[in-house]
Amino acid sequence: PLKRKLSVDSQTENSVPGTSDSGVQVVVRMRPPRTDKDEGEMMVQKLSSDSLSINGQTFTFDSVCDTDSSQLDIFQLVGAPLVENCMAGFNSSVFAYGQTGSGKTYTMWGPANALLDENLSSDQQGLTPRVFERLFARLNEEQIKHADKQLKYQCHCSFLEIYNEQITDLLDPNQKTLQIREDVKSGVYVENLTEECVRTIKDVTQLLIKGLSNRRTGSTSINAESSRSHTVFTCVVESQYTNVANGISSFKTSRINLVDLAGSERQKLTGAAGERLKEAGNINRSLSQLGFVLIAADYLSAGNLINILAEISQTGKQRHIPYRDSRLTFLLQESLGGNAKLAMVCAISPTQSCKSETFSTLRFAQRAKAIKNKAVVNEV
Ligand code: ADP
Repeated sequence: PLKRKLSVDSQTENSVPGTSDSGVQVVVRMRPPRTDKDEGEMMVQKLSSDSLSINGQTFTFDSVCDTDSSQLDIFQLVGAPLVENCMAGFNSSVFAYGQTGSGKTYTMWGPANALLDENLSSDQQGLTPRVFERLFARLNEEQIKHADKQLKYQCHCSFLEIYNEQITDLLDPNQKTLQIREDVKSGVYVENLTEECVRTIKDVTQLLIKGLSNRRTGSTSINAESSRSHTVFTCVVESQYTNVANGISSFKTSRINLVDLAGSERQKLTGAAGERLKEAGNINRSLSQLGFVLIAADYLSAGNLINILAEISQTGKQRHIPYRDSRLTFLLQESLGGNAKLAMVCAISPTQSCKSETFSTLRFAQRAKAIKNKAVVNEV
């Protein structure tokens, strides 16, 4: 049987353009400089559709989106393939990674006023509503396309926040901290999490509006709007195709995860103390953990990881990946690794004032790009 494994491809670190067989599609998006604040000169220049330079150093990814890129551009690069992957039965996720203020929320959901526009006429509409508009269109198309097969489908959505390693149901914030459970029948799931059946794009935008208004944002000494939690919008798509001639059905379930990660800036810089300090540690840990699962950034400094990495790339052996070490990776376990499809939108602020965080994001992005989710023949 075919089984997939994670490995690091040293070639991609050397920027081979268009290497799209990677397990992780990495798109870097620059937000425009702020007009209300002097952020210093532009530090990042887009060189081509997949490369940029900063301080004379060149980085190459799957795609680079300049400050004038539109929400539609991001949808076409990341959202449309996500929907096709979902239709093909793959668990598919998009993560927005980057420092606070770099445009993660803008990219994933769009500004609140755009969400309120239920006809999706706003150019600013974010990735998530666009994904669902396309998903429903595709499902409806499938329903009429096959005269010999009948499609029935159901879509269930949930929306949660992971704050300080605690899970909150954004669709029912009165529920106290929820727990992750795992069993053979259901796999990994969050106990008592609200799941809403959605049939139209209007249903989805209403859930987004409700959930986002329940989101928690803490303030720190660096930035009052600092986003200190991960937000995860999940849709489970269950489809059933029935052969009209013989009545035999086949079932497919796939998951879409749209994840707005906590700000990636080093949390210790914020002068946190007490509860804030604990929270800061948890943010660093879960982002690092995600990085680990994607074999990325922070964990590279841990000696044992280097050994694990070396073992994976030299021997091609499967390794145990400690998904459970953070809520984020435990929860998304079935959508990371394996034959899951992942896209990472790394948001950067291209100006002088953000230079060191931008470098850090680009390094993370580069490591994510170096991972392959390869199909290999399982020798066992
Ligand atoms: P984050 O979620 O990373 O903290 P936001 O998405 O809140 O950042 O973006 C910070 C500010 O910049 C917001 O006012 C947002 O509307 C604006 N912004 C971000 N990206 C873009 C973009 N590509 N085009 C226009 N405005 C943007």
